[in-house]
Amino acid sequence: MRNTKLFWQLFPIQILILLGVVILISWNSSTALNEFLVAQKIEGLTARAHLLHPRVVELLGAHNFRGIEELCRNAGRLADTRITVIDLDGRVIGDSVRDPEIMDNHRHRPEIVTALVGKTGTAQRYSTTTNQIMLYVAIPLIVDHETKGVLRTAIPSVSLDRTLDSLFNKIGFILLIVTGIAGYLSLLAVRRVSQPLEKMTEGALRFAAGDFSSRIVVSGAEEVVSLAQAMNRMVTLLNERLQEAVNRRNELDTVVSSMLEGVIAVDLDANVLYMNDSAARQLDVSRFEAKGGNILEVVRNIDLLRLIQKTLKMNEPVEGTIVFNRSREEERILQMHGAQLTDADNKRIGALIVCNDVTRLLRLENLRRDFVANVSHELKTPITSIKGYVETLLQEVEENQPHIREFLGIILKHSNRLHAIVDDLLSLSRIEQESRREEIRLQETSIKETLAEAIETFATKAADKMIEISLSCPNDLIAQINSPLFEQGIGNLLDNAIKYSRAKSTVRVEATSSIEQIIIKVIDNGPGIPENHLSRLFERFYVIDKARSRKMGGTGLGLAIVKHIVQAHGGQVTVTSKSGRGTIFTIILPKTK
Ligand code: ATP
Ligand code: MG
Repeated sequence: MRNTKLFWQLFPIQILILLGVVILISWNSSTALNEFLVAQKIEGLTARAHLLHPRVVELLGAHNFRGIEELCRNAGRLADTRITVIDLDGRVIGDSVRDPEIMDNHRHRPEIVTALVGKTGTAQRYSTTTNQIMLYVAIPLIVDHETKGVLRTAIPSVSLDRTLDSLFNKIGFILLIVTGIAGYLSLLAVRRVSQPLEKMTEGALRFAAGDFSSRIVVSGAEEVVSLAQAMNRMVTLLNERLQEAVNRRNELDTVVSSMLEGVIAVDLDANVLYMNDSAARQLDVSRFEAKGGNILEVVRNIDLLRLIQKTLKMNEPVEGTIVFNRSREEERILQMHGAQLTDADNKRIGALIVCNDVTRLLRLENLRRDFVANVSHELKTPITSIKGYVETLLQEVEENQPHIREFLGIILKHSNRLHAIVDDLLSLSRIEQESRREEIRLQETSIKETLAEAIETFATKAADKMIEISLSCPNDLIAQINSPLFEQGIGNLLDNAIKYSRAKSTVRVEATSSIEQIIIKVIDNGPGIPENHLSRLFERFYVIDKARSRKMGGTGLGLAIVKHIVQAHGGQVTVTSKSGRGTIFTIILPKTK
């Protein structure tokens, strides 16, 4: 339905009602007036007929038709009335306007018919004699109780109409004025109702447009005024709430934007919902251009997109390191933490990423790594030559020079130790560097063969202590590994197992597989490791008993190397042990399909 203004809904109805009433009153009063006037004229005509009645009866009695005719003419002129006398047969005896000789028989005229039966007849009809509508009154002419004829008086209806017309004109004029005034008054009344409503509509539209400073001011009906007041109160309250929300958002914005960590919020399609200044700086993008754009278009880094997609899929926090190559020389490394964003109903709506620029940290770490690698490399040559010369000297020293032999033996032992340390350090930094650059080549290899080879390497060492090494592994167990490296890792575990176990004990190497993982265990029943050391066991240079370790030639790098090798294969290594009950080292490798 089309919306019409209240004014146009009320005003036309009022005017229609007004016009209806006016028309009804005019019609009613005009009919009443007409009837009244006709009755008055008939009364006049009847009175005139009765006035003439005695004289006409007299002349009729005397059969003086000429006298009647004359009377008719004279009286008619004087009273400005048509007067006609008709005998019982309907013949006209006298008429004030025409010669009776040439007039029709009047017997069947309705007023004459009534008069002939002794009553007063009236009629308003067209007269062929005068050629106009006339008002007639006919009375019987009674002589000695006997009707002898009819006396008729008549006036033209036009005079009546004229009177009515002038009256109607006056009434019409008055009604027009009354209608005008009533219309104007109803216009004012309707305006009084509709104007405050229009003002309220304007006010409400201003509120809707966000102008909360204005207020609605209306006067008029109590209902309307209290409605306006209620709306004003509502807007004041709304304004306060809005300000509160804005303040809270500003506070939060200040906190998040002054964070050193970068914060990025994305929706389910990886479109940026929010990004703080730190994130924009770290990712080298404009914070305002980024908003709403897809993260891949904004940052152009597929690894970041992958991390976000992973976060959106997973149910737990996700971590990752992402390298941004801004130019050939300048690379930026960001540590990322992704968490799921949910709404109040716990429905997932996106992801929140917090990033940290770790470039400087990693650079320092690299420096340290390079330094260790360089120093080890530089130490390796002099130590090898010292070792070589000492070995040569030992062979050449005379049997009778026991001190020199003993001293040379000590020098050789320490040289061997230094050699072992430098070897371990070098292989550690090599594994680290290669795994960072993803240079370690993995190949499908039989696990059983690799394990057997590692055991073979340590066969003599085990035999020296009469330690038996058993292997249990499915023949068809295959994994993506770097065989020499993996062998070195298993070797380090076997080395420990043999080194720290008593003579004549057993060492077991067991490999099993599940749907997703390959599990390799190196189990010994040696002295075990006290629980307080377990958490730090894989740290570099970490040894439990320094004196004993040194005596056995240990440097505390063996397990650190194992950890790095396993990590380079995407797996993890754990240890379980109880003092006096042996130790189990477990390597878990993911199965690649
Ligand atoms: P390296 O292996 O570098 O020659 P290391 O054997 O002393 O020296 P790790 O292999 O890292 O160093 O071992 C760290 C310490 O953990 C060892 O000093 C030893 O005390 C303890 N340990 C390792 N394996 C076992 C084991 N199977 N049983 C008991 N203790 C062990
Ligand atoms: Mg060791």
